[in-house]
Amino acid sequence: MTSHSPEVTNHRLTFGRDNRFQAELRRRVDEYFRSTGRRQRDCPQMYLKTAIILAIFASLYLLLVFVAATWWQGLPIAILLGLSMAAIGFNIEHDGGHQAYSNYAWINRLMAMTMDLIGASSYVWHWKHVVVHHTYTNLTGHDADIELGVLGRLTPHQKRFPFHRWQHFYLWPLYGLNIIKWHLYDDFRDVILGRIGSQRMPRPKRWELVGFISAKALFLIMAFGVPLLFHRLWVVLLFYAITVVLTGVVVSVVFQLAHCVEEAKFPLPREGSGSVENAWAIHQVETTVDFARQSRIESWLLGGLNFQIEHHLFPRVCHVNYPHISKLVEQTCREFGVKYREHISFRAGLASHFRWLRRMGAPEPAT
Ligand SMILES: [Zn+2]
Repeated sequence: MTSHSPEVTNHRLTFGRDNRFQAELRRRVDEYFRSTGRRQRDCPQMYLKTAIILAIFASLYLLLVFVAATWWQGLPIAILLGLSMAAIGFNIEHDGGHQAYSNYAWINRLMAMTMDLIGASSYVWHWKHVVVHHTYTNLTGHDADIELGVLGRLTPHQKRFPFHRWQHFYLWPLYGLNIIKWHLYDDFRDVILGRIGSQRMPRPKRWELVGFISAKALFLIMAFGVPLLFHRLWVVLLFYAITVVLTGVVVSVVFQLAHCVEEAKFPLPREGSGSVENAWAIHQVETTVDFARQSRIESWLLGGLNFQIEHHLFPRVCHVNYPHISKLVEQTCREFGVKYREHISFRAGLASHFRWLRRMGAPEPAT
């Protein structure tokens, strides 16, 4: 087995050139939108959904900071606030960041900035998620989303440490704690180094830098400054931790279900040339798994992230359309001999992620 360390690898990867599958998919999806008259972006239900989620988020924040006076009042509000922050990430920020929300760049930008509202830099996220993760999905050493450092082994090509044998138990809380690191350390490190894992990221310049610093300052004022005027330091820190750890667990698990499960592939580029065997669209399908496609509630709450195959193939299509195009994508995959994988429910996906972590952490079987 190849051992691949996540060191800086600046050479660009190339994908297979046969794009017939992608062209046919594009043609069918375009035809779907043309014949139904549905909009790819600027869908009215998205604006309504955004208003509902942001209003819930703002109300919970105000309740937690200005109204809650006891721990038993604060705790359920903090839990709901954490979930509402995850909902902002799934439903609003993600579409805005992918320019899938609107045909107007400024609306997309505004929606993408809700990421700053929940503590993480929208500038860094653009490079980390939209550029790096969506291009190099599940490619060890390139896709930063599958790098947990020494703490976890998510792919067969990462170095295994003996303590990984317990990772299927200990990683869950770490998914949550990771978001504190992301808020207070990772974003600053990435901007200073000008790098996302092994990939270069242009450092923010002028207004981008002003935006990065002011957004971070605003979040720190919201999360710590204002609450400290009304509550003791340990209370503020504890409730910040409860809120964001819950956000971190929910967000990480939902994203892990798409790529870090038994059914997803983890190909390696060819040694030396940096070429990936499959064409880009086939690579996206092979490294991604859907779940709970039938559930309207989960589709609404998770911003269509249970349709990650559709999202990876059509990142600029607003997520409210994914349930409608998924049958079409599945059918096209079948015709081209590309395996379309899904879990029937969130629970089935969760169980598969658990088993994948256990398998990746287990000692190599003796040969
Ligand atoms: Zn995405």
